[in-house]
Amino acid sequence: MRVSFDLDDTLFVAPEKFKTEKSLRFPFRIIYKERLRLGTIELFKYLTEHNIEPWIYTTSFRSERYIRGLFRCYGIKLCEVVNGERHAREVQRDNPEAMPSKYPAKYRIDLHIDDDISVKQNGDTYGFRVFIIGAEDEHWTEKIIKRIEEIRNDNRQL
Ligand SMILES: [Mg+2]
Repeated sequence: MRVSFDLDDTLFVAPEKFKTEKSLRFPFRIIYKERLRLGTIELFKYLTEHNIEPWIYTTSFRSERYIRGLFRCYGIKLCEVVNGERHAREVQRDNPEAMPSKYPAKYRIDLHIDDDISVKQNGDTYGFRVFIIGAEDEHWTEKIIKRIEEIRNDNRQL
């Protein structure tokens, strides 16, 4: 199973508004300024333990190297990273029609996690699953795990 995550306002959050994981030690906190939403480390541990591939799917143009490097500092190994550049190259390509801003179905991603409701609307239109998490919510990881388990059960019954 594959689960992808948006970065901005999903995993990368403003510490003024959200509880966050501890900032990195020097010099890494200078290199990697973004702060992870509290619970991210444990959630990714759960994914790994359950053989779920963690992907990042962001419209931002942060490099894959930067994104992987940041997560590695927190002990998280990402499976694949789709950034704005890769999306343009592999999804939009020379398609004359505008593709949705994210298209997880292209990568056979089973569930995408995002804060942007328009991504969910695109999911309904184009046929991919999106789970929305928004503002500070202590139960955000449990909600995601519950959704993952529902999908796993559905797949088993096929
Ligand atoms: Mg976002």
